[in-house]
Amino acid sequence: MPTYSYKCTKCAHEFDVQQSITDDAIASCPECEGKVQKMFGKVGVTFKGTGFYITDSKPAPPKKEN
Ligand SMILES: [Zn+2]
Repeated sequence: MPTYSYKCTKCAHEFDVQQSITDDAIASCPECEGKVQKMFGKVGVTFKGTGFYITDSKPAPPKKEN
C-alpha cells in the first residue's frame, strides 16, 4: 500500500498516510483541521530529487568490512 505525504496549508504540519489508491484523499489536518495538500513526488520515505539534499557534511565513509 503506498504512503502519501500531506502537508497542512494552515499549520504546515506534515504527515504520511498509508492508503489505497482508491481511498479518498485526506482533506483535513489532524492537528488543526485545516486544509491539507497532497505532496506528490515524495512517496515513501526516500528523499529523492531536488531541494532535499543535506549538504552539511562529510562524504559518506566507505564501507569497510575487514
Ligand atoms: Zn494543520
